[in-house]
Amino acid sequence: MKITLLTGRTFDFKEKFGFNIKVVKSAQAKRLTLRIDEKNHRPILTVPKYCSQNQALKFLEDNHDWMINMLARLPRSTDFSNGETISFFGQKYIILHAPLERRTYFDDGFLKVSGDSEFLHRRTMDFLKQSTLKKLSEMTVKQAKILGCRVSSVAIKDTKSRWGSCSTLGNINYNWRICMAPIHVINYLVCHEVSHLKHPDHSTAFWSCVKDLCPDYEEGRHWLKVKGKDLYKYI
Ligand SMILES: [Zn+2]
Repeated sequence: MKITLLTGRTFDFKEKFGFNIKVVKSAQAKRLTLRIDEKNHRPILTVPKYCSQNQALKFLEDNHDWMINMLARLPRSTDFSNGETISFFGQKYIILHAPLERRTYFDDGFLKVSGDSEFLHRRTMDFLKQSTLKKLSEMTVKQAKILGCRVSSVAIKDTKSRWGSCSTLGNINYNWRICMAPIHVINYLVCHEVSHLKHPDHSTAFWSCVKDLCPDYEEGRHWLKVKGKDLYKYI
């Protein structure tokens, strides 16, 4: 197997190890290190500047069992399925495949999903994304008003690295999966991003602004850190 160690490149280790590994070359790293990228379900190998390919491969071989164990512990990716209960902005809904319906909609505790069963996952996800955009736009504008700030746009992203972002131009993006978190967590995230309209950093002033909008922000923050990754099982 041939590998070239370049920053940020992903190599096909599948043949040798049974899964992909991301290799990152780092000028700062002092030694070879491995960690698990939970969101993308793969190990990341950091390689210091002066390290041979053989050393790197030997290190991976030595840690093969560790990687397998760690990957096995991650929540498995899953599709939305008929009969499954989901949480959407703090409300529980049972997904109900309704092939005769003309559209997908919430109906009295159910999320009725039209179309063929093979598209159930896709349709559920598309519907949740659309509905999430509407809800988050409202929440965002409302909180921004309290701060006396203007939001340029609100958008939903499929990012795997962050829950939200706010640009200096006032464009706020959210990860659609946040819709399945408890409502106080969603509220915290909105307050967090909106506070960036005033403070483009994570300074003390920023956090006190978050606290004014969302007094229990620490709970929301903690939830995202600890449980947030569970929501990534939907891909
Ligand atoms: Zn932030």
